[in-house]
Amino acid sequence: MIDLKSDTVTKPTPAMLEAIMNAEVGDDVYKEDPTVNLLESRLAEMFGKDQALFFPSGSMANQAAIKLHTQPGEQLICDKWAHVYNYEGGGASFNSGVSCKLVDGNRGMITAAQVAENINPPDFYHSPLTSLVCLENTTNKGGGACYDFEEIQAIRKVCDEHQLGLHLDGARLFNALVAKGESPKQYGEVFDTISVCLSKGLGTPMGSVLIGDEKLMKNAMRVRKVLGGGMRQIGFMAAAGLYALENNVERLAEDHQRAQELATTLAAQAYVKQVEPVETNIIIFYLNDGINEVDFLKRLEDRGVIISGMGQGKLRIVTHLGYTQPMHEELMEILKGLV
Ligand SMILES: *Cc1c(COP(=O)(O)O)cnc(C)c1O
Repeated sequence: MIDLKSDTVTKPTPAMLEAIMNAEVGDDVYKEDPTVNLLESRLAEMFGKDQALFFPSGSMANQAAIKLHTQPGEQLICDKWAHVYNYEGGGASFNSGVSCKLVDGNRGMITAAQVAENINPPDFYHSPLTSLVCLENTTNKGGGACYDFEEIQAIRKVCDEHQLGLHLDGARLFNALVAKGESPKQYGEVFDTISVCLSKGLGTPMGSVLIGDEKLMKNAMRVRKVLGGGMRQIGFMAAAGLYALENNVERLAEDHQRAQELATTLAAQAYVKQVEPVETNIIIFYLNDGINEVDFLKRLEDRGVIISGMGQGKLRIVTHLGYTQPMHEELMEILKGLV
């Protein structure tokens, strides 16, 4: 099967498995796992931050960040499509007792002006106190779109003027860095906390990391424990993460290239109404009116291809390291052959 429903479907390669097998491990709840400690210090250093902490999932890393930045009753600002609002099971309210002020952004991205407009006046005690802004880069529901770094800097300025925390849901931050030629240090400078997934395009079986400065991160171990995320000999998975940082970052450009080629091919097909701009590894496209989405997905599946349907003729393809050049060539022919 050519499975392009998500970049989370990747399985460890033999070389990554070898790195896992050879990992030196210890009890990470006692902070005695040397491989986890190495992964954390490497990422903290890469982003120019004091600390990093390994989490079982990106959702938990984001939820911990929200908890570290807020008090119950407060409010965070995010795009209406944000993962922290839509896809973490209502965790912001469940774990931190905060509400989300949703901004009508563009492809999952919001502007500094929109942030400023959505801050509740702090002395108006009828409204929840705004204390945090959460951005996503690349955006998931926004089709892998990347922020302009200047906009992020402008948002930082607004946050400073209003004493708001700034968190980045960087599940696919490495895709943005590779696509835009940006550096982790740039991001470390403007964000208070950053979560990064190792289990998406970087291809590990599990794990995300939350990165930030001592001031906020000093409570991160406690919050992770409360959320049930304290793990023991998890250095096996940290070893996969270290392997991924060394071997699987630059190759994201291949995923982006193949996504571009798929988008160009799709745009030329009569059954496609529209293809959204492709910046990284996510392609969102719309079927022509009158073509049934379920039937279309079934026809692809009959040819060994899995992509995801988002409803109302909106479809999503995600390229990743398990999607090889021969698969790519095969899929391009399949797409051209559908009527
Ligand atoms: C995948 C993803 C996460 C984390 O998801 P988990 O499945 O919990 O690891 C967070 N934010 C975005 C934008 C994502 O795409």
